[in-house]
Amino acid sequence: MIATLPASEEERPPFREQDALFRRVVRRFVETEIVPHHAQWEEEGCVPRSLWRKAGEAGLLCTTIPEAYGGAGDDIRSAVVALEEQARAGVTGPSFSLHSNIVAPYLLHYGSDGIKRTWLPRFVDGSAIGAIAMTEPRAGSDLAGIETRAVRDGAGYRITGNKTFVSNGQLADAIVVVAKTDAARGAHGISLFLVDAAAAGFARGKNLDKIGMHAQDTSELFLDGVFVEESALLGELGRGFEYLMAELPQERFMIAVAAVAAAEGCFAQTLAYVGERSAFGKRVADFQHTRFVLADAATEIELGRTFIDACVVRHLAGNLTAERAAMAKVWCTEMEGRVVDACLQLHGGYGYMREYPVARAYVDARVKRIYGGSNEIMREVIGRGLLSRRGGNGG
Ligand SMILES: Cc1cc2nc3c(=O)[nH]c(=O)nc-3n(C[C@H](O)[C@H](O)[C@H](O)COP(=O)(O)OP(=O)(O)OC[C@H]3O[C@@H](n4cnc5c(N)ncnc54)[C@H](O)[C@@H]3O)c2cc1C
Repeated sequence: MIATLPASEEERPPFREQDALFRRVVRRFVETEIVPHHAQWEEEGCVPRSLWRKAGEAGLLCTTIPEAYGGAGDDIRSAVVALEEQARAGVTGPSFSLHSNIVAPYLLHYGSDGIKRTWLPRFVDGSAIGAIAMTEPRAGSDLAGIETRAVRDGAGYRITGNKTFVSNGQLADAIVVVAKTDAARGAHGISLFLVDAAAAGFARGKNLDKIGMHAQDTSELFLDGVFVEESALLGELGRGFEYLMAELPQERFMIAVAAVAAAEGCFAQTLAYVGERSAFGKRVADFQHTRFVLADAATEIELGRTFIDACVVRHLAGNLTAERAAMAKVWCTEMEGRVVDACLQLHGGYGYMREYPVARAYVDARVKRIYGGSNEIMREVIGRGLLSRRGGNGG
């Protein structure tokens, strides 16, 4: 057994026997329902809705959502397993993790009883797809600079603004929209709303043309006086920024999880390639340089997985801090970048051909250093945390 291939659950202390069983279920689903069709979905720029229903039926979605809303009521381990299996196979089209582990928790933690009962069972069975719309054409890292407004109107609010780069934007049925409810109060004037994509005044822009992740839809969204009831407000008025800060560490951690698993998958495939390809009368694997490159990559992946497992332990104990999640995102996504680049080089010219998995892994990896909060912003989060603990103002 090669040390860096996905370690079995026994070698990963936070994981249980049931995680090993679930991993097999997810792996089978990925192999049979996703891998054979992924190239076609890359051409189409989107995965079909029917895949979401199948994933729901197979129990792959929203595993941490309580049983009362149809979920498995599990902890973060099943979510990590599901994401690892998808990332390891290099199939970035279905944005299941964003839907399950990022959007659904906003509904669970801040949604009214009506929102939870209406949407969460549909999130679990895959009949409704979730998205979150924070970013705008003129505000990404600086979320306090968003221009979308939600203005009181009788028994609800009217939301107006433009969002961009929204993952699942073409497919989404329910979107968590970040809007200003009091422009004078900066971060304290931001609120979150759940917008039904069927609402009047809501429109989707085109499916954006990305350099990678071609099977995952990413869109602009337009809200032109969209009316939402009071009950669409998530949590309390003006506390949206606080809720984002509370939920973003999980989003960043899951990006780190995907980065390590994707690096693992790319490495395993490269190991096989260098064992078959010949140059100068020997296998590419037989050059000492190749072994050194592989040794470095394997070591980095091992470190990444160890970090992920340490974060899982902290998550289970309820103390995965914003700083540690940011550290995991920075280190694991930059490690993935180094590993896929090295793997591509070992493929020679074939590594530059899109039909080779390593070429797709290379472009798919790149965005992880940007979305979910860029790695520069992550370094700010880590640095400010260090300074605030030392008593400084952290800037
Ligand atoms: C494929 C994809 C999917 C996405 N999905 C979603 C989604 O589902 N929902 C959503 O809301 N958003 C989504 N995003 C948006 C993503 O989160 C933003 O692109 C990201 O936060 C960066 O914002 P920006 O693009 O406006 O860059 P900017 O904020 O304009 O940043 C430009 C550069 O300046 C740097 N920078 C900015 N501020 C600082 C600072 N204080 N210190 C140092 N450097 C700084 C940045 O790191 C970056 O290098 C997605 C983006 C992509 C590409």
